[in-house]
Amino acid sequence: MEVIRAQVVVLGAGPGGYAAAFLAADKGLTTVLVDASPRMGGTCLQVGCIPSKSVLHVAKLINEAKEGSHFGVTFGPPKIDINGVRGHWQKVVEGLTRNLAVLRDARKIRYVNGRGSFLDANTLVVDGKTQIVFEHAVIATGSSPTMPPLFQIGSSRVMDSTGALALEDIPTKLLVVGGGYIGLEMGTVYAALGSKVTVVEMTDNLLPGADRDLVVPLQKRLQGQFSQILLKTKVTKLEEVGKTIRATLEAPDGTTSLDTFDRVLIAVGRRPNTRDIGLEKAGIEMDPKGFIPVDPQRRTVVKSIFAIGDVAGEPMLAHKATFEGKVAVEALCGEPVIYDVRAVPAVVFTDPEIAWCGLTEAEAEKGKIPFKRLRFPWTGSGRAMTRGRTDGLTKILIDPVTDRVLGIGLSGIDAGEMIGEAMLAMEMGATARDLALTMHAHPTLSETIMEAAEVSHGYPTHAMPAKR
Ligand code: NAD
Repeated sequence: MEVIRAQVVVLGAGPGGYAAAFLAADKGLTTVLVDASPRMGGTCLQVGCIPSKSVLHVAKLINEAKEGSHFGVTFGPPKIDINGVRGHWQKVVEGLTRNLAVLRDARKIRYVNGRGSFLDANTLVVDGKTQIVFEHAVIATGSSPTMPPLFQIGSSRVMDSTGALALEDIPTKLLVVGGGYIGLEMGTVYAALGSKVTVVEMTDNLLPGADRDLVVPLQKRLQGQFSQILLKTKVTKLEEVGKTIRATLEAPDGTTSLDTFDRVLIAVGRRPNTRDIGLEKAGIEMDPKGFIPVDPQRRTVVKSIFAIGDVAGEPMLAHKATFEGKVAVEALCGEPVIYDVRAVPAVVFTDPEIAWCGLTEAEAEKGKIPFKRLRFPWTGSGRAMTRGRTDGLTKILIDPVTDRVLGIGLSGIDAGEMIGEAMLAMEMGATARDLALTMHAHPTLSETIMEAAEVSHGYPTHAMPAKR
């Protein structure tokens, strides 16, 4: 067996793992990166964020062309070449994967392709062939789609997100189980490609963690794009019948009905990849949900081992993983660092997009945190009007005494691009007055943040005056 000695080994080459490995190498540490895939990038790059955003862009093109007549331009119906649509995301992924390999090699990071598992608190073995003796390890093995046994009927027509991205065909009727991030993003893609999409969500709202005010414009638009959105509904059975899947749906009143679909996408959450990596041999215990408990430096109970990203707890988002990866490496270098963020941004890349950071209204109410709500509907935005999309809302929650921003939410086209300003405001401890007194370029959608902030003092230009 080959034995490699490394100051740092990173297990998992997703956006958390590769960022950690790159920083470790930049700090002069001999670094080994281990991944079961020969290609770096993990779920996010290979079968997640990047491919889904590529196909969502295709959906945007189709929908904008369809709505061209509002602007005096009419296009014919689109001709969809499914191989071309798939080819687009594959090309993007290939380009990014190649770039990562160049960046890795330039840092002289050794890449070991195979499944890594701990032998003890200082040794990792990869596929039984390579032994890596390390001073420090960073676990960044990510997560996998949850597939409850009920849905495991051995049919390729029942897909997880990876199957949905494979775009084998455009199903005439698609059932999406789960009205969360993946269900709504991929439902949007398939609806634009021509599928009749039914979304079944077991709770009483789409995107249960998001602010209700933000979900309203999205739900309204999705109602026009999807054939059905069934809330408080459960799928109790799936059966393969010929070339279709028959689903038993249970309505909120307990009555059941049958419906038949060409394909089914299961998007009911993800679980951390913490099994089969020898955690117990290293001396690490998972929590009841399968996450690895970590301290504010992302160190596990074992001093030499850190855990970051999806394995280290919710929210399972790539940018959180990257951030934590850097914290962990600085910590193992002995630097005075902790994971201490005022917010984690969330973006759902639907149409309209929904983006938020910091406190939501539901959280404020639950935690009895006093807040003042500032809202600016996009009907007052000239830029939104030029784009024919006034169906948006910018919402800021502030501390009623100090005026400090507690949370910002956006629902509307390009909302995800504006969350950067919101995050900066959160991290810098901005007040509503700071946002209102920051000159925003006209005409842009970002002005809605300034105008919402102006509500704090009662003087937003493009809103009705406050009652005296
Ligand atoms: P999710 O947690 O976003 O949504 C799952 C939804 O399924 C929830 O609304 C839940 O109530 C519902 N649900 C659960 N069991 C169900 C059942 N049996 N029947 C009907 N509904 C059911 O999970 P996801 O959409 O699978 O995405 C997984 C994770 O991946 C997300 O939480 C997120 O962390 C990440 N992700 C992020 C992005 C992004 O940042 N834009 C995109 C995709 C995925």
